[in-house]
Amino acid sequence: MIEENVKKILQELPQGVELMAAAKARTPEEIMRAAQAGVKIVGENYIQEALAAFNVVGHRVKWHFIGHLQRNKVKKAVEIFDMIETVDSPELSKEIDKRCNQCKRIMPVLIEINSGREKQKFGIFPEDAEDFIKEISGLKNMKTEGFMTMGPMFGDPEDARPYFVETKKLFDRIKTLNLPGLEMKYLSMGMTNSYQVAIEEGANIVRIGTKIFGERG
Ligand SMILES: *Cc1c(COP(=O)(O)O)cnc(C)c1O
Repeated sequence: MIEENVKKILQELPQGVELMAAAKARTPEEIMRAAQAGVKIVGENYIQEALAAFNVVGHRVKWHFIGHLQRNKVKKAVEIFDMIETVDSPELSKEIDKRCNQCKRIMPVLIEINSGREKQKFGIFPEDAEDFIKEISGLKNMKTEGFMTMGPMFGDPEDARPYFVETKKLFDRIKTLNLPGLEMKYLSMGMTNSYQVAIEEGANIVRIGTKIFGERG
């Protein structure tokens, strides 16, 4: 099943759109099967789960962190992840920079945009993104490469479209600012029920869990 699901999605994705397997609550073996079927990026929400999966799957895939990253987990995170998609505060940014300086690497990151301006969710409000980017732009061991957004959850994916549109507009505007050290390359948006709409609105990374692995138990 996992193999067929991955192949089907890969066939369907337009050129230039990358598939991420969102792997929370899946076993390392399930993730391995997705990797063998052609998944090249795995997204993890929790450090412990990621470590277990990384020990089995290793560098066959790229690892993206997509959960809420606590500062006391950053040290471990910078050891295994190829990208952190959920940078959402100056404090977290500084910690990533510090830990990456210690292990001599530069971490590509995406800024999480709270496109629904939902109080209970993490992420930078769209209107604060420019100032935030300028604030973290001096950090030498972290490289901002784009945006990630969740958007509010809806039964009908059409309802998510305005949030994707707004995030893409912001992405394009920030890109034209040509800020030093900033390379706006990735726009990570869309999940199982909304990824087609997200692609229509400019996503180039889609984060898919259920459609690959089945319903979470
Ligand atoms: C779980 C999760 C996904 C994937 O959700 P599905 O609906 O199972 O495709 C995508 N992004 C994030 C940040 C997630 O936590």
